[in-house]
Amino acid sequence: MKYIPFNKPYLTGREIQYMEGSLQKGELSGNQSNSDKVTSFIKKKYCDSEVFLTPSCTAALEMGVLLSGVKPGDEVIMPSFTFSSTANSVMIFGARPVFCEVNPETMNLDVSKLKSLISSKTKMIIPIDYAGVPCDMDEIMTLAEKFNLIVMLDAAQSFGARYKNKPTGKDAHLICFSFHETKNLTCGEGGALLVNEKKWISKAKIIQEKGTDRARMLEGLQNKYSWVGTGSSYLLSDILAGMLVAQLEVEAEILEKRKNIFFKYKSTFKKFVKEGFLNDLYIPSYVNPNYHSYWLTFDKIENKELFITQMGFKGIPAYISYIPLHTSKMGSEIGYKDEDLPITKYSAQRLVRLPFYAGLSKDDQNYICDSALEILTEIYNPKIIQT
Ligand SMILES: *Cc1c(COP(=O)(O)O)cnc(C)c1O
Repeated sequence: MKYIPFNKPYLTGREIQYMEGSLQKGELSGNQSNSDKVTSFIKKKYCDSEVFLTPSCTAALEMGVLLSGVKPGDEVIMPSFTFSSTANSVMIFGARPVFCEVNPETMNLDVSKLKSLISSKTKMIIPIDYAGVPCDMDEIMTLAEKFNLIVMLDAAQSFGARYKNKPTGKDAHLICFSFHETKNLTCGEGGALLVNEKKWISKAKIIQEKGTDRARMLEGLQNKYSWVGTGSSYLLSDILAGMLVAQLEVEAEILEKRKNIFFKYKSTFKKFVKEGFLNDLYIPSYVNPNYHSYWLTFDKIENKELFITQMGFKGIPAYISYIPLHTSKMGSEIGYKDEDLPITKYSAQRLVRLPFYAGLSKDDQNYICDSALEILTEIYNPKIIQT
């Protein structure tokens, strides 16, 4: 039987060449020539931002929270519909995640519900760009400025996406990216923190280098380094940065391929969306996503489950997404109840994602779409797709 993977990294063949370069030069630890290539590439997109390559987006989020001076007892607002790392980055420094509802059209933070969650303890907001569709940053920044809050965008899924003709997160204080195997561009495990606040840059260098001023020594500003602050080891190996160099060279090609797959899916499910059986992700006119994924929400949980099972019989993995954090075991340990965020729970329970990667062949795309249409027709009503 046919089996289609859910995700597959898009390799160019040049990854090994750049990685070997690191080995030959003996540049194995972080912030050496391959890292420089990657940071200058990202800096070109984000002029004025300082770029720190990290071992993961999780590490970038932690670095950002530490940099923001979030302390025990502080509150940080984020969507419940996100990955555990968004909340963990706050929890490990003793602060409390406060979960906000999502807008079911994009599954991004519902900005209209944000204000009522702000308290005297609120220090920071961490929105995410779900599926690579940028959240409404202007609205978030307006509120943040009014209440003097720090905004760190968890852009793990949205490297390369744009918001109002700017790269996503450009106006946030901090931005975190992921280069995990499952993301659009990958080095296996990797990430980046972008710091847009000039006054935080020297502190970020110390945090990244185990709480030392080693970066100043490397810049030739002093001849030794020592322990000067709180920090950790938040560096990406130059070997892995080498893999990223190759991936960045084909960023446009990957984007184009993903875009085509996205619109193939969108046109396939159009009739069912029009009939009101399904909803699929909405792309606001002012954003250019990086087409990280395609998702649908079903009218009924039973129909979603039937769809997943039937697709599975055809060798096509259709996956749910995040279990909302407020409904998780840890969510209940910090005092949340399932019914606290009904919109998030309702949408997340009905959401399904389909296989999505740049190397998905036309044949496989057709096989997925034909199979899905057949199953949906069986589920809903044979009459609706006769046109
Ligand atoms: C993938 C992802 C992360 C974690 O990224 P890593 O690089 O694996 O640490 C964090 N947040 C979101 C929204 C993600 O999708």
